[in-house]
Amino acid sequence: MAKATDKAIYFDSSLCTDCKGCQVACKCWNNLPSPIGVNENQNKATAENPYIGSYQNPPDLNSMTRLIMRCNEVETPDLQKGVGLVFSRRSCKHCTDAGCVRVCPPGALYHDEETGFVAVDQSKCIGCHYCATACPYDVPRFYGEKRFIEKCTGCVDRVQNGLKPACVTTCQPGALDFGQRSEMVKKALGRVEVLKARGYKDACAYGINEMDGLHVISVYKYGLDVHQEVKEPKLSAIVPLSEVAKPLSAVGIAAVVAALGISFINGRKYDIGDFRYDEVTGVQTKHGEFYEQFDPAEIKAGEEQEPVHEISRRFNGDKRKGGK
Ligand code: SF4
Ligand code: SF4
Ligand code: SF4
Repeated sequence: MAKATDKAIYFDSSLCTDCKGCQVACKCWNNLPSPIGVNENQNKATAENPYIGSYQNPPDLNSMTRLIMRCNEVETPDLQKGVGLVFSRRSCKHCTDAGCVRVCPPGALYHDEETGFVAVDQSKCIGCHYCATACPYDVPRFYGEKRFIEKCTGCVDRVQNGLKPACVTTCQPGALDFGQRSEMVKKALGRVEVLKARGYKDACAYGINEMDGLHVISVYKYGLDVHQEVKEPKLSAIVPLSEVAKPLSAVGIAAVVAALGISFINGRKYDIGDFRYDEVTGVQTKHGEFYEQFDPAEIKAGEEQEPVHEISRRFNGDKRKGGK
């Protein structure tokens, strides 16, 4: 079960206005791009029915989007006008029994000690996609050429510095909150009682016991079906299998790292085009012959600067917050 000291994000669907401020705040803090595009539902438009649109944009989590607010158009007996808009938060739920953590071979996904959130060390991700198959909520996506994991980190980088998660700080109607998990559970149960008293008979709290306790506690005004929530989340069958294979994968990774290390230590000589350069002696040879003594002082000012500058610019441009 979740630890007594754990923290949690609280989401109350009955207060949410679907302004999507939290979606935007997540993008801003985590430096995630937002390419301009058309509403994907327009692809389904026909000559007879050209106006197929939706408030749902983007349609689901993607490689640049860690959080979406779902906007479902539904017909419920509780709603008087026939069609109503029902809002839900879709992002990582930070499971205590997290399939993604259990299967991740290099340990790129891990539980943050202070909060219980499932944080990410993107530098360790090898892009194997095991976590995507292990997650009962279909959360992990993959970003960039390296295809490293992209998912909500619970903003542990902010929390460690005394701040609330970025999405929480932006919510105007108070649908989001953050604090001790036990307090958030208490708040959710209290809110459900209020909603039930107002006639919302299916109102419920979610995340208290699921997956040994989630670290996102939700209040669903119209019940799990209408909010399209996973009713009985379970660990994927691949989790136990992967756990057997995990030590082998780890040995494999360790072997590759060790081999690279040995190759680096021994890599005092390497070939550049027609030349061979010895890092110990500084000697360059061409086709096996002594060519010339390497003298760093001979490098003209600016000659080496540009490539280094270019590499570091690209690296920093690719580096985003939210993980280690
Ligand atoms: S910021 Fe608050 S009100 Fe706006 S969409 Fe997010 S949870 Fe809903
Ligand atoms: S919701 Fe999925 S990605 Fe998030 S902690 Fe649970 S298993 Fe991992
Ligand atoms: S906790 Fe941070 S990373 Fe997660 S959805 Fe909110 S802003 Fe995004």
